Amino acid sequence: MSDFRADGRAAVDWVADYLERVRDLPVLARVEPGDIRSRLPAAPPGEPEPFAAVLRDLDEVLLPGITHWNHPRFFAYFAISGSEPGILAELLIAALNVNAMLWRTSPAATELEELVLDWVRQLIGLPGRFHGHIEDTASTSTFAALAAARERRPGGAVLCSEHAHSSVDKAARMLGMELRKIPADAKFRLRPEVLEREIDDATAVVATVGSTSTTSVDPVPAIAEACELAGAWLHVDAAYAGSAMVCDELRWAFEGVDRADSVVVNPHKWLFTPMDCSLLYTRRPEDLRAAFSLVPAYLRSDEAATNLMDYGPALGRRFRSLKLWAVLRCYGAEGLRALIREHVRLAQLFASWVEAEPGWEVVAPVPFSVVCFRRDGSDDENRVLLEQVNATGGAFLSPTELDGRLVLRLAVGNLRTTEADVTRAWELLREAARAPAP
Ligand code: PLP
Repeated sequence: MSDFRADGRAAVDWVADYLERVRDLPVLARVEPGDIRSRLPAAPPGEPEPFAAVLRDLDEVLLPGITHWNHPRFFAYFAISGSEPGILAELLIAALNVNAMLWRTSPAATELEELVLDWVRQLIGLPGRFHGHIEDTASTSTFAALAAARERRPGGAVLCSEHAHSSVDKAARMLGMELRKIPADAKFRLRPEVLEREIDDATAVVATVGSTSTTSVDPVPAIAEACELAGAWLHVDAAYAGSAMVCDELRWAFEGVDRADSVVVNPHKWLFTPMDCSLLYTRRPEDLRAAFSLVPAYLRSDEAATNLMDYGPALGRRFRSLKLWAVLRCYGAEGLRALIREHVRLAQLFASWVEAEPGWEVVAPVPFSVVCFRRDGSDDENRVLLEQVNATGGAFLSPTELDGRLVLRLAVGNLRTTEADVTRAWELLREAARAPAP
């Protein structure tokens, strides 16, 4: 093995250099399918290679095939951040290589996870009765919540808005549950009066706080009321917007969420924590245990302590709480609030430019850091415009569809994004709109 300290310094230097220069790299990878693989050996090396060879190929072969999610002008999907404390904590996590399946397989990992989930609970304003644990993604968290709901009331359907994320459809499919979509209003929010007509036999309702296309907020108080009357489980998908609840002025979006049976919040979306880290809170941990606890002889342990393997589908569990802990400590609540406020300000600013420009329109309210907009013209014209912008490498935006029309989306969420970056994206869009279609 080569020198670990020297390789380690080189790797950390690589990361520091990367973070400094990422702004100058094309955001969207400019390669064709198969390009990267064709440049790599088809068979594994027979003899050991130095770690430096891995770093060299990262630069020379892989980097052109990287779409830079940590780029300040990554505005597609939900923009995310691998922050420095989170990056360093990932190194420590790998060094410890803990499997936090049982309390005894690393008491500190279980107890830190419980503590950090309680810290975030306080920061986002959920009451103390919520128990939290970490899953890899919101897809798994929602799957786990619906499995617990099915345990409580088997046989019924899952109801959600037509704008709910596809992870709800996927979870229902995996669990063999019927899924029914409830129409939304003109502001893309689930219509509770339709839900009330459909809810009688429901097992669960999924409400979204911060929907994927527009970041709309379903009317959770009315949905909670209907769920309580019907005895249905209420799961709140706040995968994106949950992080924003650290800011008091955005807390309106969590009204009624204290009445939910479960809530998912993804720090890997908007809380500056590297992929992957999804928090599942529940008022009914006993139902999660009923759905998932399975203790064969080789996993038995006698301590009066929580075994987190009992709360979700995976047995092996990474020490994810360490990176979230590092992020919370190194930014502090005020640091996180300042970043989120700035992202919301940048989104509002961008929306004001679009609104003021003839021939462009903002097509959905902007409660958080995502702007849905389009240029007058056909879907094809908007698609070409977007492709032209993305091909410049100067910014990356992704589309969605609203009311049957193609819509452009600008999502602010990277911690290095500045007003100059948002300005640049707007310039690129306007330049593409002025350019003759190819
Ligand atoms: N819920 C919402 C509202 C989302 O926007 C997304 C992804 O963007 C998900 C759930 C799924 O997230 P994950 O990739 O963590 O499974």
